[in-house]
Amino acid sequence: MPFRAHLALVIFLPLLALGAVIAVGYVIPIPHFGREYVLRFLLPDQIEKYGLPEVLGPRDSSLPLVVIDAGHGGRDPGAVGEGIREKDVTLALATALRDELIAQGGVRVAMTRDDDRLLSLEERPDIARRLDADLFISIHADSAGEPSEVSGASLYTLSNRASSAAAARFARRENDADRLNGISIEGQDAEVNAILVELSQRYSREESIEFARLITREGEGRITFLPPALRAADLVVLRTPDMPSVLFESGFVTSADDAQRLLSPEGRQAFANVLTSAIKAYFVRQGLD
Ligand SMILES: [Zn+2]
Repeated sequence: MPFRAHLALVIFLPLLALGAVIAVGYVIPIPHFGREYVLRFLLPDQIEKYGLPEVLGPRDSSLPLVVIDAGHGGRDPGAVGEGIREKDVTLALATALRDELIAQGGVRVAMTRDDDRLLSLEERPDIARRLDADLFISIHADSAGEPSEVSGASLYTLSNRASSAAAARFARRENDADRLNGISIEGQDAEVNAILVELSQRYSREESIEFARLITREGEGRITFLPPALRAADLVVLRTPDMPSVLFESGFVTSADDAQRLLSPEGRQAFANVLTSAIKAYFVRQGLD
């Protein structure tokens, strides 16, 4: 082969390869150097885009405000089971709870989302914070990885240290909701978060545990819990220094029993009744009712 043909190959082959890669849609893998090495982009600010959600219930701002957060949404389905997606379960449960709280009266209610939209994990408590809420409840469901007998609900409060390996796994999965397709959509810097976590532990941890206890008390005989019902994990959505917050893990989308319960109107109503009783009992103790 003459020298010039060689040169042409050296120049054009890489270009050709690059062209092919672009043509099939950027298949070059991003090297992994640990958690911090990820491409970052900001999820469009949903609060800016849609404004703060409407506060429902009595127009008396002296009444306590509960913010209900339906986990996941939009292009993030959450845990997926047999014909059941976490994002649909959470929205249905959140809506049932909202309706029950409004029907019983005495509290104001807002939802972080009431349709199929995606919010970042940090935006969810931020909505509650901006509304000056008194209580934040994030609703989720878990997955056992494959169809299984593991079933039941549990409650999470914030802690630096997970209460068990299962709690740590749950937290890892939930915190990954902001890393769709390996791309981080975190909006705030790590230092701010560290301070928030620190404050949260000192300020509202006991209150959160107290509220979680009330849910298990009210739920006795009405909701099946997976022991231990009270758990702790470092969940991003619970980093709320200024208000008590609990994550209600409503059951397993991979359990036929739980799926049936979570999809049935009776199961939803039982959940809404238990949570409403617990919320009311909590505010009575706070003198906020
Ligand atoms: Zn979830």
